[in-house]
Amino acid sequence: MKPSDLLHPRHEGLWCPPGQFFIDPVRPVERALITHGHADHARSGHGHVLATRETLRIMAVRYGIDFAGETQEAKLGERITVNGVSVSFHPAGHVLGSAQIAVEADGCRIVVSGDYKRAHDPTCLPFEVVPCDVFVSEATFGLPVFRHPPAEGEVAKLLASLKLFPDRAHLVGAYALGKAQRVIALLRQAGYDRPIHLHGAMEKLTAHYRREGVELGETPPVRLAERAKMRGEVVICPPSALQDLWSRRFPDPVAGFASGWMQTRARARQKGVELPMVISDHADWPDLCRTIEETGCQELWVTHGQEDALVHWAGTRGLRARPLHLVGYGDDGEAEGSAGESGPPEREEPAPA
Ligand SMILES: [Zn+2]
Repeated sequence: MKPSDLLHPRHEGLWCPPGQFFIDPVRPVERALITHGHADHARSGHGHVLATRETLRIMAVRYGIDFAGETQEAKLGERITVNGVSVSFHPAGHVLGSAQIAVEADGCRIVVSGDYKRAHDPTCLPFEVVPCDVFVSEATFGLPVFRHPPAEGEVAKLLASLKLFPDRAHLVGAYALGKAQRVIALLRQAGYDRPIHLHGAMEKLTAHYRREGVELGETPPVRLAERAKMRGEVVICPPSALQDLWSRRFPDPVAGFASGWMQTRARARQKGVELPMVISDHADWPDLCRTIEETGCQELWVTHGQEDALVHWAGTRGLRARPLHLVGYGDDGEAEGSAGESGPPEREEPAPA
Protein backbone atom coordinates (compact mmCIF):
# COMPACT_ATOMS: atom_id res chain seq x y z
CA MET A 1 0.00 0.00 0.00
CA LYS A 2 1.30 3.46 -0.89
CA PRO A 3 1.29 5.86 2.08
CA SER A 4 -1.10 8.16 0.22
CA ASP A 5 -3.57 5.26 -0.10
CA LEU A 6 -3.55 4.96 3.69
CA LEU A 7 -3.89 8.68 4.45
CA HIS A 8 -4.35 11.76 2.31
CA PRO A 9 -5.68 15.29 2.67
CA ARG A 10 -9.28 16.19 1.92
CA HIS A 11 -11.19 19.40 2.59
CA GLU A 12 -12.34 18.05 5.95
CA GLY A 13 -8.84 17.02 7.08
CA LEU A 14 -6.58 13.96 6.79
CA TRP A 15 -8.65 11.05 5.47
CA CYS A 16 -7.95 7.33 5.85
CA PRO A 17 -9.92 5.55 3.07
CA PRO A 18 -9.50 1.95 4.33
CA GLY A 19 -10.27 2.99 7.94
CA GLN A 20 -13.09 5.34 6.91
CA PHE A 21 -12.00 8.00 9.41
CA PHE A 22 -10.58 11.51 9.48
CA ILE A 23 -7.86 12.82 11.79
CA ASP A 24 -8.65 16.25 13.31
CA PRO A 25 -11.36 17.11 10.78
CA VAL A 26 -12.26 20.79 10.63
CA ARG A 27 -15.96 20.10 9.98
CA PRO A 28 -18.37 17.50 11.35
CA VAL A 29 -17.79 13.97 9.99
CA GLU A 30 -19.02 10.45 10.75
CA ARG A 31 -15.81 9.18 12.37
CA ALA A 32 -13.00 11.34 13.79
CA LEU A 33 -9.71 10.63 15.56
CA ILE A 34 -8.61 13.70 17.52
CA THR A 35 -5.03 14.52 18.50
CA HIS A 36 -5.76 17.20 21.14
CA GLY A 37 -8.32 19.59 22.58
CA HIS A 38 -7.39 22.90 20.88
CA ALA A 39 -10.40 24.22 18.99
CA ASP A 40 -8.73 24.06 15.59
CA HIS A 41 -8.20 20.28 15.96
CA ALA A 42 -11.12 19.25 18.17
CA ARG A 43 -14.50 20.35 16.88
CA SER A 44 -17.94 19.34 18.04
CA GLY A 45 -20.61 17.53 16.04
CA HIS A 46 -18.83 14.34 14.88
CA GLY A 47 -20.73 11.05 14.81
CA HIS A 48 -17.96 9.11 16.58
CA VAL A 49 -14.80 10.42 18.28
CA LEU A 50 -11.75 8.39 19.28
CA ALA A 51 -9.29 10.31 21.48
CA THR A 52 -7.41 10.07 24.77
CA ARG A 53 -9.53 10.27 27.92
CA GLU A 54 -8.05 13.71 28.72
CA THR A 55 -8.92 15.08 25.27
CA LEU A 56 -12.46 13.70 25.45
CA ARG A 57 -12.91 15.42 28.81
CA ILE A 58 -11.51 18.71 27.52
CA MET A 59 -13.97 18.55 24.61
CA ALA A 60 -16.80 17.91 27.08
CA VAL A 61 -15.72 20.93 29.17
CA ARG A 62 -15.65 23.18 26.11
CA TYR A 63 -18.62 21.95 24.11
CA GLY A 64 -20.81 20.11 26.64
CA ILE A 65 -21.09 16.37 27.21
CA ASP A 66 -23.05 15.81 23.99
CA PHE A 67 -20.18 17.12 21.79
CA ALA A 68 -20.27 13.91 19.68
CA GLY A 69 -22.69 11.08 18.91
CA GLU A 70 -20.41 8.48 20.49
CA THR A 71 -16.99 8.61 22.08
CA GLN A 72 -14.28 6.01 22.56
CA GLU A 73 -11.24 6.37 24.80
CA ALA A 74 -7.81 5.56 23.34
CA LYS A 75 -5.32 4.36 25.95
CA LEU A 76 -1.77 5.49 25.21
CA GLY A 77 0.21 2.83 23.37
CA GLU A 78 -2.76 0.49 22.91
CA ARG A 79 -3.55 -0.78 19.39
CA ILE A 80 -7.12 -0.25 18.27
CA THR A 81 -8.46 -1.60 14.99
CA VAL A 82 -10.74 0.73 13.04
CA ASN A 83 -12.24 -0.96 9.97
CA GLY A 84 -9.15 -3.15 9.64
CA VAL A 85 -6.63 -0.31 10.12
CA SER A 86 -4.49 -0.40 13.27
CA VAL A 87 -4.24 2.91 15.15
CA SER A 88 -2.46 3.86 18.38
CA PHE A 89 -2.05 7.06 20.40
CA HIS A 90 1.29 8.31 21.83
CA PRO A 91 2.11 11.43 23.91
CA ALA A 92 2.82 14.61 21.92
CA GLY A 93 3.90 16.91 24.79
CA HIS A 94 1.74 19.78 23.50
CA VAL A 95 -1.10 20.16 26.07
CA LEU A 96 -2.85 17.88 28.56
CA GLY A 97 -4.01 14.73 26.75
CA SER A 98 -2.33 15.62 23.44
CA ALA A 99 -1.34 12.63 21.36
CA GLN A 100 0.30 11.63 18.12
CA ILE A 101 -1.72 9.08 16.17
CA ALA A 102 0.06 6.16 14.47
CA VAL A 103 -1.90 4.64 11.57
CA GLU A 104 -0.71 1.31 10.24
CA ALA A 105 -1.75 -1.09 7.47
CA ASP A 106 0.12 -3.58 5.24
CA GLY A 107 3.42 -2.83 6.95
CA CYS A 108 3.26 0.94 6.37
CA ARG A 109 3.18 3.17 9.43
CA ILE A 110 2.30 6.86 9.30
CA VAL A 111 2.56 8.97 12.46
CA VAL A 112 0.40 12.09 12.61
CA SER A 113 1.89 14.23 15.34
CA GLY A 114 -0.80 16.91 15.56
CA ASP A 115 0.84 19.81 17.39
CA TYR A 116 3.87 18.88 19.49
CA LYS A 117 6.84 20.12 21.45
CA ARG A 118 9.94 18.58 23.02
CA ALA A 119 10.44 21.18 25.77
CA HIS A 120 9.62 20.41 29.42
CA ASP A 121 6.00 20.95 30.43
CA PRO A 122 4.84 20.04 33.95
CA THR A 123 1.20 19.85 32.80
CA CYS A 124 1.44 17.01 30.28
CA LEU A 125 3.32 13.85 29.37
CA PRO A 126 6.53 14.33 27.36
CA PHE A 127 6.66 13.66 23.61
CA GLU A 128 7.48 10.09 22.68
CA VAL A 129 9.37 9.28 19.48
CA VAL A 130 7.43 6.71 17.42
CA PRO A 131 9.46 5.12 14.61
CA CYS A 132 7.59 5.32 11.31
CA ASP A 133 7.78 5.33 7.50
CA VAL A 134 6.02 8.66 7.12
CA PHE A 135 6.06 11.41 9.74
CA VAL A 136 3.38 14.08 9.56
CA SER A 137 4.58 17.27 11.23
CA GLU A 138 3.32 20.75 11.90
CA ALA A 139 5.64 23.67 11.15
CA THR A 140 4.28 26.56 13.22
CA PHE A 141 7.85 27.64 13.97
CA GLY A 142 9.38 26.05 10.86
CA LEU A 143 12.12 28.58 10.19
CA PRO A 144 15.75 28.33 11.36
CA VAL A 145 15.44 31.66 13.21
CA PHE A 146 13.03 30.11 15.72
CA ARG A 147 14.95 28.81 18.71
CA HIS A 148 12.97 28.90 21.93
CA PRO A 149 14.89 29.55 25.15
CA PRO A 150 14.15 27.35 28.19
CA ALA A 151 10.75 28.36 29.60
CA GLU A 152 12.20 28.42 33.14
CA GLY A 153 14.32 31.44 32.21
CA GLU A 154 11.28 33.26 30.83
CA VAL A 155 9.39 32.67 34.07
CA ALA A 156 12.43 33.97 35.96
CA LYS A 157 12.06 37.24 34.03
CA LEU A 158 8.53 37.60 35.38
CA LEU A 159 9.72 36.93 38.94
CA ALA A 160 12.52 39.49 38.54
CA SER A 161 10.01 42.07 37.31
CA LEU A 162 7.78 41.43 40.34
CA LYS A 163 10.76 42.16 42.62
CA LEU A 164 11.68 45.27 40.68
CA PHE A 165 8.12 46.65 40.50
CA PRO A 166 6.32 45.50 43.66
CA ASP A 167 3.65 48.20 43.18
CA ARG A 168 2.62 47.17 39.69
CA ALA A 169 0.11 44.48 38.74
CA HIS A 170 1.69 41.91 36.39
CA LEU A 171 -0.72 40.78 33.70
CA VAL A 172 0.34 37.75 31.67
CA GLY A 173 -1.53 37.05 28.42
CA ALA A 174 -1.72 33.32 27.79
CA TYR A 175 -4.08 31.04 25.86
CA ALA A 176 -6.76 29.38 27.92
CA LEU A 177 -5.97 25.74 27.12
CA GLY A 178 -2.47 24.62 27.99
CA LYS A 179 -0.38 27.79 28.03
CA ALA A 180 -2.10 29.40 31.02
CA GLN A 181 -1.75 26.24 33.12
CA ARG A 182 1.83 25.68 32.00
CA VAL A 183 2.81 29.22 33.06
CA ILE A 184 1.13 28.71 36.45
CA ALA A 185 2.84 25.33 36.94
CA LEU A 186 6.23 26.78 35.96
CA LEU A 187 5.77 29.63 38.45
CA ARG A 188 5.06 27.04 41.16
CA GLN A 189 8.14 25.03 40.17
CA ALA A 190 10.17 28.22 40.49
CA GLY A 191 8.93 28.52 44.10
CA TYR A 192 6.32 31.26 43.62
CA ASP A 193 3.65 30.55 46.24
CA ARG A 194 1.39 33.64 46.20
CA PRO A 195 -2.12 33.23 44.78
CA ILE A 196 -2.10 33.54 40.97
CA HIS A 197 -5.20 35.43 39.86
CA LEU A 198 -7.30 34.43 36.87
CA HIS A 199 -9.34 36.37 34.35
CA GLY A 200 -12.82 34.83 34.01
CA ALA A 201 -11.98 33.24 30.63
CA MET A 202 -9.27 31.12 32.30
CA GLU A 203 -11.30 29.66 35.14
CA LYS A 204 -13.09 26.73 33.53
CA LEU A 205 -10.09 25.03 31.94
CA THR A 206 -7.79 25.80 34.88
CA ALA A 207 -10.30 24.17 37.23
CA HIS A 208 -10.40 21.23 34.84
CA TYR A 209 -6.59 20.85 34.86
CA ARG A 210 -6.72 20.84 38.65
CA ARG A 211 -9.38 18.11 38.61
CA GLU A 212 -7.03 16.15 36.33
CA GLY A 213 -4.37 16.29 39.04
CA VAL A 214 -2.12 19.10 37.76
CA GLU A 215 -0.63 21.03 40.72
CA LEU A 216 -1.46 24.71 40.30
CA GLY A 217 -1.67 26.06 43.85
CA GLU A 218 -4.15 28.77 44.70
CA THR A 219 -5.70 30.44 41.61
CA PRO A 220 -8.57 32.71 42.67
CA PRO A 221 -10.62 34.58 40.04
CA VAL A 222 -10.00 38.31 39.88
CA ARG A 223 -13.35 40.03 40.18
CA LEU A 224 -13.73 43.32 38.40
CA ALA A 225 -14.10 45.31 41.60
CA GLU A 226 -10.81 43.90 42.90
CA ARG A 227 -8.59 44.97 40.05
CA ALA A 228 -7.26 47.97 41.95
CA LYS A 229 -6.02 45.64 44.71
CA MET A 230 -3.70 43.67 42.43
CA ARG A 231 -0.53 45.60 43.24
CA GLY A 232 2.45 43.25 42.97
CA GLU A 233 0.24 40.29 42.00
CA VAL A 234 0.29 38.00 38.96
CA VAL A 235 -2.89 37.92 36.87
CA ILE A 236 -3.28 35.47 33.97
CA CYS A 237 -5.60 36.66 31.20
CA PRO A 238 -6.41 36.05 27.55
CA PRO A 239 -3.97 37.92 25.28
CA SER A 240 -6.84 40.00 23.88
CA ALA A 241 -7.64 41.28 27.39
CA LEU A 242 -4.26 43.05 27.52
CA GLN A 243 -5.64 45.65 25.12
CA ASP A 244 -9.14 45.79 26.60
CA LEU A 245 -10.57 48.33 28.97
CA TRP A 246 -10.47 45.43 31.43
CA SER A 247 -6.70 45.74 31.86
CA ARG A 248 -6.62 49.49 32.47
CA ARG A 249 -8.16 49.32 35.93
CA PHE A 250 -5.11 47.56 37.37
CA PRO A 251 -2.51 49.62 39.22
CA ASP A 252 0.17 50.62 36.67
CA PRO A 253 -0.03 47.22 34.93
CA VAL A 254 2.97 45.48 33.37
CA ALA A 255 1.72 43.74 30.21
CA GLY A 256 3.32 40.32 29.77
CA PHE A 257 2.60 37.78 27.05
CA ALA A 258 3.64 34.10 27.01
CA SER A 259 3.97 32.90 23.41
CA GLY A 260 6.54 31.49 21.03
CA TRP A 261 5.94 34.55 18.88
CA MET A 262 7.40 36.79 21.57
CA GLN A 263 10.80 35.94 20.10
CA THR A 264 9.82 38.43 17.38
CA ARG A 265 10.45 41.80 19.01
CA ALA A 266 8.38 43.70 16.47
CA ARG A 267 5.37 41.60 17.37
CA ALA A 268 5.79 42.21 21.09
CA ARG A 269 6.10 45.95 20.47
CA GLN A 270 3.10 45.98 18.16
CA LYS A 271 0.99 44.34 20.87
CA GLY A 272 2.24 46.77 23.48
CA VAL A 273 3.90 43.97 25.46
CA GLU A 274 6.40 45.21 28.02
CA LEU A 275 7.35 41.76 29.29
CA PRO A 276 7.59 39.28 26.40
CA MET A 277 7.95 35.67 27.59
CA VAL A 278 9.04 33.23 24.89
CA ILE A 279 7.09 30.19 26.02
CA SER A 280 5.85 27.98 23.21
CA ASP A 281 3.78 24.81 23.09
CA HIS A 282 5.19 24.06 19.63
CA ALA A 283 8.55 22.63 18.59
CA ASP A 284 11.12 25.19 17.49
CA TRP A 285 13.32 24.67 14.42
CA PRO A 286 16.03 22.51 16.04
CA ASP A 287 13.38 20.32 17.70
CA LEU A 288 11.39 19.92 14.47
CA CYS A 289 14.55 18.74 12.66
CA ARG A 290 15.70 16.51 15.54
CA THR A 291 12.28 14.89 15.83
CA ILE A 292 12.00 14.13 12.13
CA GLU A 293 15.44 12.48 12.23
CA GLU A 294 14.68 10.51 15.38
CA THR A 295 11.55 8.92 13.87
CA GLY A 296 13.73 7.36 11.14
CA CYS A 297 11.06 8.22 8.56
CA GLN A 298 11.80 8.15 4.83
CA GLU A 299 9.05 10.62 4.08
CA LEU A 300 7.83 13.85 5.67
CA TRP A 301 4.44 15.48 5.22
CA VAL A 302 3.97 18.97 6.63
CA THR A 303 0.46 19.91 7.70
CA HIS A 304 0.46 23.62 8.50
CA GLY A 305 2.64 26.54 9.47
CA GLN A 306 5.80 27.58 7.63
CA GLU A 307 6.13 24.50 5.44
CA ASP A 308 8.65 25.55 2.79
CA ALA A 309 11.83 25.66 4.85
CA LEU A 310 11.12 22.33 6.55
CA VAL A 311 10.26 20.61 3.26
CA HIS A 312 13.47 21.99 1.76
CA TRP A 313 15.54 20.91 4.77
CA ALA A 314 14.09 17.37 4.59
CA GLY A 315 15.03 17.21 0.91
CA THR A 316 18.65 18.01 1.75
CA ARG A 317 18.59 15.06 4.19
CA GLY A 318 17.46 12.68 1.45
CA LEU A 319 13.84 12.47 2.61
CA ARG A 320 10.84 12.71 0.34
CA ALA A 321 8.92 15.68 1.65
CA ARG A 322 5.79 17.59 0.75
CA PRO A 323 3.42 20.13 2.21
CA LEU A 324 -0.18 18.95 2.65
CA HIS A 325 -1.65 22.46 2.53
CA LEU A 326 -4.27 21.61 5.14
CA VAL A 327 -6.44 24.58 5.96
CA GLY A 328 -8.14 25.49 9.19
CA TYR A 329 -5.29 24.72 11.59
CA GLY A 330 -3.03 26.98 13.56
CA ASP A 331 -5.45 29.06 15.55
CA ASP A 332 -4.59 27.60 18.92
CA GLY A 333 -3.19 30.98 19.74
CA GLU A 334 0.37 30.76 18.51
CA ALA A 335 -0.46 31.10 14.85
CA GLU A 336 0.02 34.24 12.87
CA GLY A 337 -2.70 36.84 13.05
CA SER A 338 -4.97 34.69 15.14
CA ALA A 339 -7.23 35.81 17.91
CA GLY A 340 -6.51 32.47 19.54
CA GLU A 341 -8.38 31.01 22.43
CA SER A 342 -9.02 34.23 24.18
CA GLY A 343 -12.68 33.53 24.80
CA PRO A 344 -15.31 36.23 24.91
CA PRO A 345 -14.41 39.54 26.55
CA GLU A 346 -15.42 39.66 30.16
CA ARG A 347 -18.48 41.81 30.72
CA GLU A 348 -18.52 44.53 33.29
CA GLU A 349 -20.39 43.29 36.34
CA PRO A 350 -23.25 45.45 37.58
CA ALA A 351 -22.29 47.60 40.56
CA PRO A 352 -23.30 46.03 43.87
CA ALA A 353 -26.55 47.45 45.22
ZN1 LIG B 1 -2.67 22.84 19.46
